[in-house]
Amino acid sequence: MAGNGRGVVCLCTLGCAKNEVDSEKMRRRLSAAGYTFCDDAAAADVVVVNTCSFIQAATEESIQAVLEAFELPQVVEGRGAVVVAGCMPARYGAELERELPEAAAFVPCADESRIVEAVDRAMPAAPCEQVRAVAAAADAPVFSYVKISDGCDRRCAYCTIPDIRGAYHSFPFDDIAADVRAAIEAGAREVVLVAQDTGRWGADLGERHDIAWLLATLADAHPETLFRIMYVQPDGVTDRLLETIATHENIASYLDVPIQHVDASLLRAMRRGGDRQRFEQLADHIRTQVPNVTLRTTLIAGFPGETEAQFDELLDFAASGCFDYVGVFPYSREEGTEAFHLEGQLSEDEKERRAQVLRDTADAASAHAVSQRCGHVERVLIEGVEEDGQLFGRTQQQAPEVDGVTYVDAGDVGSFVKVMIEDTLLYDMEGSVRHESS
Ligand code: SF4
Repeated sequence: MAGNGRGVVCLCTLGCAKNEVDSEKMRRRLSAAGYTFCDDAAAADVVVVNTCSFIQAATEESIQAVLEAFELPQVVEGRGAVVVAGCMPARYGAELERELPEAAAFVPCADESRIVEAVDRAMPAAPCEQVRAVAAAADAPVFSYVKISDGCDRRCAYCTIPDIRGAYHSFPFDDIAADVRAAIEAGAREVVLVAQDTGRWGADLGERHDIAWLLATLADAHPETLFRIMYVQPDGVTDRLLETIATHENIASYLDVPIQHVDASLLRAMRRGGDRQRFEQLADHIRTQVPNVTLRTTLIAGFPGETEAQFDELLDFAASGCFDYVGVFPYSREEGTEAFHLEGQLSEDEKERRAQVLRDTADAASAHAVSQRCGHVERVLIEGVEEDGQLFGRTQQQAPEVDGVTYVDAGDVGSFVKVMIEDTLLYDMEGSVRHESS
């Protein structure tokens, strides 16, 4: 066997933060079993591609990544192998196995605990002998995602997640607490709680447990760590949750509440509910309960039957700045979903056009909201250094990977500093350090 330990694995992750958490769990299992890791797929005995397939575009990207892995020299020569994990085998099962006979194994998300067994089986008899640089340990990230539940029972008409990830199930508190401890011990200064439906956490665990209790318990146990919660569905925004956020300095005053549209009839067709007035009232209520809160949402453009008037209403809502940040997605027609069969499907070009117009409108509103932060002092967690030596980090208004960064002039990676915001450019901000707080 080449390299150190049992063999060398390259983990390649596609998709969302939830998938990153699954990859991290696989990495821990493989590491405990004696495998080491490298970032260079060409130097690995086994390449594990953790796929995403919740929409067609994500599936295509995942297939492309798997096909590229099949072309790696060591795989072509039989000295390396490819394991396909995650959402794609969960969604397509035996059909995928027929389409990709070159893969050594398939590990759907529900079977993530079998990753060691699958990689053991995939390990080539004569593994990669070339000299390779095995990454000792990746630089510890200053933030870490922790997944608190999996699956979803809501069955929104356009969504494949319930079929891919199964029924909603909260992870037990002890497991979450252990993941949080492990993340902090590995160097995380910010922990981001994620799931398909975070606000529902605990509903299946007994009456004492809810997301407010979970968040408060974790924040109280780790006062030096910043906590953030993502993906709270509108009905999960309870006063208990808002009070917990408002009363803890180490919980980001930030809420990501996906609403998807503002037209009542389209929301009913999506099997979601709500309307513009309700969402505006919700946003107002959150802003009253949590001072200086930052709000993010996601919107879908081009859902089947969306009229020009309904789309204009959505544009008007995005322009109003009700939410500070808006993620925009063109509707994706997915087989196996209820919306696949709806009448009034728009062309791909029209969906893309609407999405782009909506994105531009939302970006202009966000840029205005972000520009209002000039002259304010914000606490920034320094995340890293760009190639040109520029330090960057994030304020509590900026969730990782979606809301831009803040460029700063001094400080150490992994520390919190107070920064006077002096300039902004779309989502990004720039400022100078006032004094270091930790
Ligand atoms: S809440 Fe709706 S969109 Fe989100 S994962 Fe569940 S079914 Fe999908």
